[in-house]
Amino acid sequence: MNVTWVHSLPTGKETGTFLTIDLGGTNLRVCKVTLHGESAKNKDQKYDIEQEQYKFPNSIKSTNADELWTHVAEKLEDFIENKGLAKEYDDKNKMPLGFCFSYPATQDGIDHAVLQRWTKGFDIDGVEGHDAAAQLRAKMEEKKLPLDLICVINDTVGALVASAYSDPATIIGGIFGTGCNAAYMSSVSSIKKLSPDDERLKDKDGNTRPLMAINCEYGAFDNARKVLPWTKYDAQIDEESPRPGQQAFEKLSAGLYLGEIFRLILVEFADRGLIFADQEKNGNEKLRQRYSIDTGFLSQIENDETEGFTDTRGMFRDVLGLDVADEELEVFRRVAELIAVRGARLCACGVAAICLEEGITEGHVAADGSVANKHPHFKKRWAKALDQILGFDSVGEDQDPIIITSADDGSGVGCAIIAAMEMEDRLQRQA
Ligand code: BGC
Ligand code: MG
Repeated sequence: MNVTWVHSLPTGKETGTFLTIDLGGTNLRVCKVTLHGESAKNKDQKYDIEQEQYKFPNSIKSTNADELWTHVAEKLEDFIENKGLAKEYDDKNKMPLGFCFSYPATQDGIDHAVLQRWTKGFDIDGVEGHDAAAQLRAKMEEKKLPLDLICVINDTVGALVASAYSDPATIIGGIFGTGCNAAYMSSVSSIKKLSPDDERLKDKDGNTRPLMAINCEYGAFDNARKVLPWTKYDAQIDEESPRPGQQAFEKLSAGLYLGEIFRLILVEFADRGLIFADQEKNGNEKLRQRYSIDTGFLSQIENDETEGFTDTRGMFRDVLGLDVADEELEVFRRVAELIAVRGARLCACGVAAICLEEGITEGHVAADGSVANKHPHFKKRWAKALDQILGFDSVGEDQDPIIITSADDGSGVGCAIIAAMEMEDRLQRQA
């Protein structure tokens, strides 16, 4: 449970132009976001965004801090150049930058974030225990980028804020993607980590602010493995990960791992001579290669409505070089379903826990991430589980008081809105 120093949801009036950078699990994304606030001509389009997505070279996940921040700063430089921003901003007039850093961080303030530990398979030396904001800032100075780092946010907080900008019923921002996590607004008085006298909580008039967004980091739930049942496949994934014993809940439920769980099960079946028996001699190296099956693979299996499941068969051939027999196909479809159902139901548990703890009884859970957006049955299964836990089973299908919605762009727009709110707050405190 991390404090974030985000004290309110947006009013919808926030304006300005910002650069944002998103360092998530898979890509590096740079955006220029212009918020129109109330002057938006179209109520459904309250911002403009220009963006560039850069695929992370795989090697970056295990480099060192210097290489990481050099890479990030280069992409920022690239973007500034391509969009002609150097004409508008310079050393004296810097462009405000928001940084979406989707990892657990301890924050003493909104422009500071000490990385607690890498998650999602990242293993970069020299960042854990350090302020990621300071490291990025130093690199930007070295490269003389005309940027002023205003805020560091978690992707869940970004999803919460971006979605609330246009949907005031938003109560939780959730990511169901490479990793899993959620954020909500808490009353400051119930945050045990903070004293209400803390100077950092005071507004311009010296009053303690009543609210703060909390980044739950529930991917780390049950790291002691005392609550949830684990299979041997889960244990193997954990042992072979760069951070064994960490992110226990995430390893059972998030997109990075679902395909790998599937693969481990298939490998065991193959080892026992139950599947691909006659193909074993040709070797099935691809199947034996770690992380060779991703969650998209499972989504496609469950999505396949082709006659005789020709798409699934084609996928096994393309991705793994294996031919699938009819009986095997049936087993694989069932296994893919079991893994995805368990994942979706666990994701619902995380959100249900927040609702129960906070006494939230209605509203929208704004969800983002590859599993939420791309798995064909995730949202339905998630909603069913939430109904069962919170007892909405009796109300009609479309009348659940808490529903899952598609989050607005948290790491771009949400991050820009938070930067705008922070700059406004600074102005007021100076006045
Ligand atoms: C990280 C969270 C993040 C989540 C979703 C987890 O691995 O610890 O900070 O919100 O992934 O991206
Ligand atoms: Mg992300």
